[in-house]
Amino acid sequence: MLPNHTVQFEKYSSIALRGDVLTREECREVLSTPNSEILGLLHAAYAVRKAFAGNTVQVQMLTNAKSGSCIEDCHYCSQSSISTASIDRHGILPEDKLVEDAHRASDSKAVRYCIVTSGRGPLDHEVDVIGKAVRRIKQNLPLQVCCSLGLLTKHQAYRLKDAGVDRINHNLNTSERYHSDICGTHTFQDRIDTINNAKKSGLEICSGGIIGMGEGDEDIIDLALALRDIGPDSIPINFLHPIEGTPLTNCNTLTPQRCLKVLCLFRFLHPRKEIRAAGGREYNFRSLQPLALFAADSLFVDGYLTTPGQPKNEAWKMIEDLGFTIAE
Ligand code: SF4
Repeated sequence: MLPNHTVQFEKYSSIALRGDVLTREECREVLSTPNSEILGLLHAAYAVRKAFAGNTVQVQMLTNAKSGSCIEDCHYCSQSSISTASIDRHGILPEDKLVEDAHRASDSKAVRYCIVTSGRGPLDHEVDVIGKAVRRIKQNLPLQVCCSLGLLTKHQAYRLKDAGVDRINHNLNTSERYHSDICGTHTFQDRIDTINNAKKSGLEICSGGIIGMGEGDEDIIDLALALRDIGPDSIPINFLHPIEGTPLTNCNTLTPQRCLKVLCLFRFLHPRKEIRAAGGREYNFRSLQPLALFAADSLFVDGYLTTPGQPKNEAWKMIEDLGFTIAE
């Protein structure tokens, strides 16, 4: 007998709405939903999104506060030691520029401004610069500030918290099993340790992953379940935008439907969390981009670290056309 997809989809949303967890088999079913049934799956994910996040969309803008010249070998990253990609390289931006970019974020209707640096972890003088900028930003703008600075010691995490940083982004990226296939210079456990250091200092946590790096369904399910153990406040789901000069340049396997199924899985497994259709949204969802917001409730505007993205005016229009509103 053919599966009754409508009944299945309703079951997933009921499980999520009552706070239970999909079984591994149910997770597999979500990821293997036939493309022809994608609207039914999205409808079920939207019921969960609507229950906990309403129809609002959280907008964020990031600044590439230090670019390139990293000693790590993350295979997806254009800034790594093994990448030959042609990218802009610069040291930490001056404090004034970080503050200026925060004003740009505020003008972009962003609820959160993300300061991102390349490298294994920040140098102490970089934490100084960022801390001074964040103090000024928090005094003058109604913005939340998130920092994504690589591996953090406890001391660095406390210093950032003390300066007024709200949230730390540190992604698990993929499953523990697959991590060594995409990075050889630090471990999955290093990533967990940084998240724990940030948590202990009272910082909120943003942690997600990257889809489309050659991982299988089991890895995506493992990642989503590992994030349940961490309990981040926000979960950015990045979709690989293969960049020439990186080892994953030919890893071009994602389809818009696959991306939507992944977002739906994360919504069912993390019903109350802010889920972001993050890097690679424009490249991978193509004309189906608006549909991502029926499962996700958060996005970036005005581009990413080394790739351009949807300009803010177009993102605002997309949100309005969907009948959604931008979170204040
Ligand atoms: S640590 Fe960060 S900047 Fe360095 S290669 Fe990995 S992702 Fe890129």
